[in-house]
Amino acid sequence: MTDDVIPKTRRPGDPPPQLEDYALARERFSWTAARASLEGFPDGTINIAHEAVDRHALGPRANHLALRWLGRDGTVRDFTYRELSEASNRFANVLDELGVPPGDTVFVLAGRIPELYIAVLGALKRGCVVSPLFSAFGPEPIRTRMTIGAGRVLVTTTSLYRKKIAPIRQDLPALKHVLIVHDEPDNELPLHTMELRTLMGWSPTTFDVRHTRPEEPALLHFTSGTTGRPKGAVHVHGAVVAHAITGRLALDLHEDDVFWCTADPGWVTGTSYGIVSPLVNGATMIVDEADFDAARWYDILRDQNVSVWYTAPTAVRMMMKGGAAAAAQHSYPKLRFIASVGEPLNPQAVRWGIEAFGLPIHDNWWQTETGGIMIANFAALPIRPGSMGLPLPGIEAAIVRRLDDGSVAAVDTPDQEGELALKRGWPSMFRGYLGEDERYRKCFSGDWYLTGDLARCDADGYFWFVGRADDVIKSSGHLIGPFEVESAFMDHPAVAEAGVIGKPDPVAGEIVKAFVALKPGFDATPALERELLAFVRRKLGPAVAPKEIAFAPSLPKTRSGKIMRRLLKARELGLPEGDTSTMEGDAPAANGVAHAAASPHVGSAPTDPESAAR
Ligand code: AMP
Repeated sequence: MTDDVIPKTRRPGDPPPQLEDYALARERFSWTAARASLEGFPDGTINIAHEAVDRHALGPRANHLALRWLGRDGTVRDFTYRELSEASNRFANVLDELGVPPGDTVFVLAGRIPELYIAVLGALKRGCVVSPLFSAFGPEPIRTRMTIGAGRVLVTTTSLYRKKIAPIRQDLPALKHVLIVHDEPDNELPLHTMELRTLMGWSPTTFDVRHTRPEEPALLHFTSGTTGRPKGAVHVHGAVVAHAITGRLALDLHEDDVFWCTADPGWVTGTSYGIVSPLVNGATMIVDEADFDAARWYDILRDQNVSVWYTAPTAVRMMMKGGAAAAAQHSYPKLRFIASVGEPLNPQAVRWGIEAFGLPIHDNWWQTETGGIMIANFAALPIRPGSMGLPLPGIEAAIVRRLDDGSVAAVDTPDQEGELALKRGWPSMFRGYLGEDERYRKCFSGDWYLTGDLARCDADGYFWFVGRADDVIKSSGHLIGPFEVESAFMDHPAVAEAGVIGKPDPVAGEIVKAFVALKPGFDATPALERELLAFVRRKLGPAVAPKEIAFAPSLPKTRSGKIMRRLLKARELGLPEGDTSTMEGDAPAANGVAHAAASPHVGSAPTDPESAAR
């Protein structure tokens, strides 16, 4: 419980909030009614891209601005709903011409360029499954994900292709068509690729959108677990009902809003709220091609008349570093609602919004598997700074404890920690991890989906984030699986074993830190540290690679041979080691040895601003 409350903010001229009375909205809510606010097709089918674009393009909002793209170099490209509809039809026709059938997976690795948005919408129209990849990934995470997803089509740029795909193309036998947006000065396309703009130029602007069943797969988003390979969470076309309603209720989206979601579509937020939700709600969405830059962001908020802004704690903290005065140089008369997601938003950051913009920042919570916002601080309710807020209408959330027999027991005492669980049945819930039924089944106990997050619920029903129940790392809002990073180290001839943890960081939330034991014959020198850091960075890309490395003669392991990351972390942070009864032998403290003791931060790099807020 806390007495610290920020009263609701409503300024003269603001439209009435979409959710005015929380209790009433919960009581009256039904997913059937939410579905009825969309169009669908008469045969009971529904297609995300039809709801997002064509529904508006075929009606009175056809000439409303759907997407304003801000190029890195100052170029601006505008698309009305009609234009976005026609461009995505062209892309769907390209797939048709190439003989790509519905159900095939189309990967997109393109940075935030207009063609990415067009390709996602066009592929959905064709009934293909779309998987956007983060362009800061290195070749290794791309190879793993495209292999799991059996990607048949890839949309990318020439420069990304040369750097990241060409070296692994021979490992992707399912990949048949590479559609290139040419972004280099000469005219030479890489071998075995096709120029997308030319193909689209030849294609018709009309297309019969596939009438997809609500349960037909639409999106494939990769996320990470503690062990094993990344998990491909499958989402279906029916999820659009949740994309629509959560945008309205949690982000207070109105038709005339100018909405800016700063997330990259390579992460789930950048698709659910960086593409689908604003379009379904008929708003104008801003897409900025450039990486984080505080001054640029203030300019965009002001110059583009952004009214609803959805961002991430790392970005907020980076802006805070410049001081509220930098924000207060401008005025933002149109800005009405600010929300954040992805990591804990500390109370100072919530309040900094008031200093900088005259508006508090509303934290909300969800994850790749939930497909949409589940818990939020709403426009019409007071904020409890530091809390994730209240469950959305239509969402049952609880704090539970796992029992030995696989069932769960509710933790009913207010403020007591447990695992955050959600009652299954909302439309954007993931329908599986691709090819990993057992892993999927393990996420559920009866009717409850277990989120893997530890939280508590106060006496008024507000949820508070406590931490992850597993070892995954949240760095600059990106979920990183330690196993993927450890595996990259293991490919280096000097590495005997590697253990990776998240180390608290004031800006990025956590940074990735690796502990490495070397094979006999290799010395823990600063030169080797630098080499290893560069080696994994080349493989994994800057968003995933560790910022720090420390050497140890060996790493603490369980008797069954699993590296005890929990112990590495406790030792790194100087915390109690907890139960070590399953530990093999007497492994020396990994952070107190060898080279790391003399220079624990050799190899540390500053927080990567490039990867913030996606
Ligand atoms: P992802 O699947 O990459 O979107 O990451 C989801 C995870 O991010 C959640 O399971 C949480 O651990 C974390 N997360 C998301 N939103 C919040 C929030 N508002 N506060 C704290 N952690 C969050």
